Amino acid sequence: MKLTKTDYLIYRDCEKNAWLKVHKPDIYFDKPLSAFDQSIIETGNEVDTLARELFPNGVLVSDRNETEETIKLLKSKTPVIYQPVFETDLYKTICDILVWNKDFNVYDLYEVKASNSGEDKSAKDKLYSYDIAFQYLVLKELNIPLGKLFVIRFNNQYVRGAELDIDQLFLKEDFTEKVMNVVDGVSLEMKTAYDLLSSNKEPFGSCKCITRGRSSHCTTFSYSNPQVPDYSVHDISRIGMSKSKLTELIDSNILLIEDVPEDFPLSEKQRNQVLATQLDKIFIKKEEIKSFLNTMVMPLSFLDYETFAAGVPRFVGFSPFNQITFQFSLHVLSDKNKEPEHSEFIFTKNENGDEEFISALIEKLPKSGSIIVWNKSFEMGRNKDLAKRNPEYKIALEDINSRMIDLMDIFSNQYFVHPKFKGKTSIKYILPILAPELSYKVLDIQEGASASDTWNKIVSDVYSKEEKLEKIQHLKTYCKLDTYAMYAIWKHLNELD
Ligand code: SF4
Repeated sequence: MKLTKTDYLIYRDCEKNAWLKVHKPDIYFDKPLSAFDQSIIETGNEVDTLARELFPNGVLVSDRNETEETIKLLKSKTPVIYQPVFETDLYKTICDILVWNKDFNVYDLYEVKASNSGEDKSAKDKLYSYDIAFQYLVLKELNIPLGKLFVIRFNNQYVRGAELDIDQLFLKEDFTEKVMNVVDGVSLEMKTAYDLLSSNKEPFGSCKCITRGRSSHCTTFSYSNPQVPDYSVHDISRIGMSKSKLTELIDSNILLIEDVPEDFPLSEKQRNQVLATQLDKIFIKKEEIKSFLNTMVMPLSFLDYETFAAGVPRFVGFSPFNQITFQFSLHVLSDKNKEPEHSEFIFTKNENGDEEFISALIEKLPKSGSIIVWNKSFEMGRNKDLAKRNPEYKIALEDINSRMIDLMDIFSNQYFVHPKFKGKTSIKYILPILAPELSYKVLDIQEGASASDTWNKIVSDVYSKEEKLEKIQHLKTYCKLDTYAMYAIWKHLNELD
C-alpha cells in the first residue's frame, strides 16, 4: 500500500474514515455520491483543465498509475508538465502543474483549487498548506529540484467581460512560506498515517462523531456507530453547536430522544422538539399562525427559483460561483375558495438568460400582493444578484423583495411543531406530513442539486434532443411541486380551527 495525498488529507480529518476507505471500500463507497458532491468534482476537473491555459503547451501525463512517463518528462526538463505522478516507497502523489524555472534550474509547483479567494480563507489556506506539503515531501525524497510552491484559485473580484480572461480569473498565490511552516509536522504525520492505514487492524469502537451533531457525520457513521438509531439525540436542532450537551447525553448512554431527562438543559426550541417526540404530540400556536397569515396580502404568489452556480463564469457580468437563475415556478391565488393558477419560466440556452428571466417574472407576477417563498434569503439574494447585473430592473426587483414573506418562518419559529418533522424546517420534511397526498419521492428530480445538475447537462448538450425535452419536463414538474407544496401547506395552516 502507498499513502496517497487524498487519503492523507482524509486521515487528517478522520483516521477511522480514512482506514475504512482503504480497507473497507464497500462500506466507504456504499452510498452513491450526491448530485451536489458530484458537481463539486466536475467543477474541480473543469477548473484544473482551464488553469493549464495559464501555462500553455505543457505535456499531460496520461497514465495516473505509472511514474515512468513523468520520469522521462523530468529528465528532458520538459518546461510544463500537467498531472505528473510521483511515488516513493511509502507515498504517492499527483501534482497539478510543474513549471520549469530556468533562472534557478528548479520546478515551481502549482496546486489548482476550484475555490474563491474570499470565503473561509484562513481554514482553506491551512488545508492547502498541508496538501502542498505532502507533495513537497514526496518530491523532495525523490530529489526533484523544487522552487516556489503556489496555489491557483479564483479571484472573487473578477467579473467576466465578453471573453473569459483567465489571467484575471485566477490568482497565483505564493504558499512557499506557509508550506515551510508546517512541513516538519506533516512529515511526522504522514508516517503515522501510513502506519495506521497500512495496518489491517481497524480503529476500535465508536468514532469521534458520536459527540457531534448529525450534519457533521460522514457516510460511514452508522457502520461505526450501529447502536445509534436513525433519529437520535444527534438530530436535536443545533445540538452540534453545544458539544458539551451532546457529550453529556452520550456519556450518560442516552441516544434516544425519548430518553432525554426532563431537567436536561436545552434551549426552548430544542426542548419543544424533544417534547413533541417524547409525548408524540403536535404543538400548534394557532394565534401566532393566524397573525402571521394575516400579514399576507391577496393575491398570494407562491414563488420558487432554480439556479446553477457556475465556478467558471459563463456570461458577461458573472463572477466565479455566481448563481445562474434559470427557472421559476409561480402559483397565484386570487380567490381563497379556488385553486391557484400556475405559470412558469425556464431558460435552456447556454446564454445569459437574466433579461428573459426578469421580464417573465415581472410579466407573470401580480403587481400587488404578497410573494410567498420558502427560505426567503435565497430568492431575495438571487434578486439582488440580478439587480446588480441588470440595474435597469433594480426597482422592480427591490419591489418583489419587499413583498416577500417566508412561509418557513412558521416552522423555524416553532409555531407548528410535529414529531415527524424531526426538528427540520425543510419543505421536504414538512410537506409529507401536512399534505401527504403530494410527494417528491415519485418525481424524477427530487431536490435542488439534481435540478441544477440536470439544467447544466441540458445546456451542455449532454442529452439527445428527446432526452432534453424529457429533462426539461422533469425540471418543470419538480419546480411546480415546490410552489404547489407551499400553497398546500399554506392551505393546511389556513384551515386550522
Ligand atoms: S462519522 Fe465522523 S468520526 Fe465517524 S468516521 Fe465519519 S468523519 Fe470519522
